[in-house]
Amino acid sequence: MTAYPHLLAPLDLGFTVLPNRVLMGSMHTGLEETGDWNRVAEFYSARARGGVGLMVTGGMAPNREGGVFPGAAGLYTSADIASHRIVTDRVHDAGGRIAMQILHAGRYAYGKECVSASAVKSPISPFVPRELDEAGIEKQIADIVTAAVRAREAGYDGVEVMGSEGYFLNQFLVTHVNRRIDRWGGSYENRMRLPVEVVARVRAAVGPDFILIYRLSLIDLVPDGSSWDEVVLLARSVEGAGATLINSGIGWHEARVPTIATSVPRAAFAWLTARLRPEVGIPVIASNRINTPEVAEGLLAQGAADMVSMARPFLADPDFVAKAASGRAAEIAPCIACNQACLDHTFSGRLTSCLVNPRACHETELVYAPAATPRRIAVVGAGPAGLMCALVAAERGHAVVLFDKAETLGGQLNLARRVPGKEEFDGLVDWFAGSVARAGVEVRLGHVAGPKDLRGFDEVVVATGVVPRDPGLPGQDLAHVRGYAEVLAGAPVGQRVVVVGAGGIGFDVAEFLVHRGESPAVAPDLWRQEWGVGDPATIRGGLAAGGPRPEAPARQVTLLQRKPGKPGKGLGKTTGWIHRASLAMKSVEMRGGVTYDRILPEGLVILQDGVPELLPADTIVLCTGQEPEGTLSAALASAGIAHHVIGGAERAAELDAKRAIDQGARLAAGF
Ligand code: NAP
Ligand code: SF4
Repeated sequence: MTAYPHLLAPLDLGFTVLPNRVLMGSMHTGLEETGDWNRVAEFYSARARGGVGLMVTGGMAPNREGGVFPGAAGLYTSADIASHRIVTDRVHDAGGRIAMQILHAGRYAYGKECVSASAVKSPISPFVPRELDEAGIEKQIADIVTAAVRAREAGYDGVEVMGSEGYFLNQFLVTHVNRRIDRWGGSYENRMRLPVEVVARVRAAVGPDFILIYRLSLIDLVPDGSSWDEVVLLARSVEGAGATLINSGIGWHEARVPTIATSVPRAAFAWLTARLRPEVGIPVIASNRINTPEVAEGLLAQGAADMVSMARPFLADPDFVAKAASGRAAEIAPCIACNQACLDHTFSGRLTSCLVNPRACHETELVYAPAATPRRIAVVGAGPAGLMCALVAAERGHAVVLFDKAETLGGQLNLARRVPGKEEFDGLVDWFAGSVARAGVEVRLGHVAGPKDLRGFDEVVVATGVVPRDPGLPGQDLAHVRGYAEVLAGAPVGQRVVVVGAGGIGFDVAEFLVHRGESPAVAPDLWRQEWGVGDPATIRGGLAAGGPRPEAPARQVTLLQRKPGKPGKGLGKTTGWIHRASLAMKSVEMRGGVTYDRILPEGLVILQDGVPELLPADTIVLCTGQEPEGTLSAALASAGIAHHVIGGAERAAELDAKRAIDQGARLAAGF
């Protein structure tokens, strides 16, 4: 008897039966743009082998003007069809199913050629779109239909028509983008004509036995977005026009409410899918922040959806479904929703990967092959770099001993997991602990390893991490000055706090200090209140009438940096704004361009534009970056013991868990 009977139940679509209720949601990986279709095929076929019921590709542009960026992948010619055929053949050989997403970006397309309902610029794009005339609209429909027909020719099992997240079709639905007065604008019937026409024409062109998913925005999270009645009317209309499944879209890209970041509660928006389900006769798919089989099973068991979509969890672990089905759910590498190696890469033009799984999208290049000659390997430091190195080496067949001076595994991950909104790190530390145990790593905790312990190993890896940087501020030895690690470990902190240093850790510490009580990330009602998420049935777009209503901050916090400009510029591309907005809601004062003069018992004296100012503070927290912990490496060098240095011990600058894990994995893959 499986623990996930609903998740693993087949779904009969009439002309085909999906083996389970898991959809791998669309993700832009950047693989198609490399032109290496073998690599694309390996990415998808690995997920097919892992048992997912149906996959959706990253968005494919139907034409040049609809591409998210110039050169975005699409199905433009018959040569493209042949390339895509490599992928679909490989997926089918692996027993999988795959649908191609057709994504027309409309005014979100990054280029002067972009088009939309009206010439209204998006707040997140520099380009004013060209308003389409009747012939222009007809061309867009025809191009989308052609893309669907080509997808069928290329061997896909279906298409997903992207109608949400504020893209082209979504733009026609709302009056602040669609200001037309012809048959494509004005009344809602007119505004929804385009998506419904697209679905009907695609269905007519591809025939009845081809999956057609329509991704429909259930809550726009922008002012003047769709009302719930309009959502329901559109859902029924696309059903009538021939859609097979309706997938849930949540929030436009320009929305100022986080929708998939790690601080968003799990399944935070599934209540909308649950509400839509009884309104239509076709299966509906829940989406956003679903990352464990338990959460997915719970939604299906409650009747909130017919399927669940998970995207990033399949970067973290291609075998998610197979592991859940074989009683090995604890072995699933968890997606912590950090966006650091996936969306942050995508939005900075880099190939997608995964912090937890560096093999994601690098399947052909980073291979964990069984070791030709098993060796004895010592790894010192059980933070992310050391844990990953020990794990991969042991899984490859080496005999690995992992040392750490602490009594617990995890290193700096144990600091992150204490920050409200970073609860997902708990799962990552637990997964590492379970994985190294299963792989047979011998763990020696509470032991400071030195040259004597390490002599005789075939390979020695130093992953001793970092020590806090000493900023050398006059007065830093006063009793009310604390380091970030002691604060996150629970040291007492006063009411008025100055945080010195506004890198990732300064932001984390500020977040930690302004919260009291339950973290909104695990309290969905509180989270909705904090971010002003309302109900689209009572207000268009689902933004609460009163706006965000955060709880009062637990402390008065000031966050400082020496660099001029607003703190937080170096944070994650897709998450930095969330951290800044979250602290701003808690009245944290964020100041750049300051010079630290001295710390006094009553506070911190700074100079701003040369003018001295005392910032009164009961506690001052130093978050001034880190330096490599190089003691062991130096001792090994003097003892003549060859060793590798990885993670923060090698280079503290720009260190994060993503680089640490990647370095650990790559070193171990080469042993
Ligand atoms: P960091 O990002 O390098 O920030 C260090 C901060 O200290 C900066 O604000 C820096 O800015 C200031 N600083 C540096 N030297 C100083 C000195 N001598 N005196 C006074 N201030 C000084 O380091 P971190 O915050 O410790 O973070 C470490 C790593 O973990 C980072 O790479 C970060 O990306 C990662 N991390 C990421 C997240 C995340 O949310 N993604 C969260 C936590 C940690 P100024 O020089 O301008 O003052
Ligand atoms: Fe999830 Fe982070 Fe991996 Fe992206 S990088 S898939 S968010 S764990």
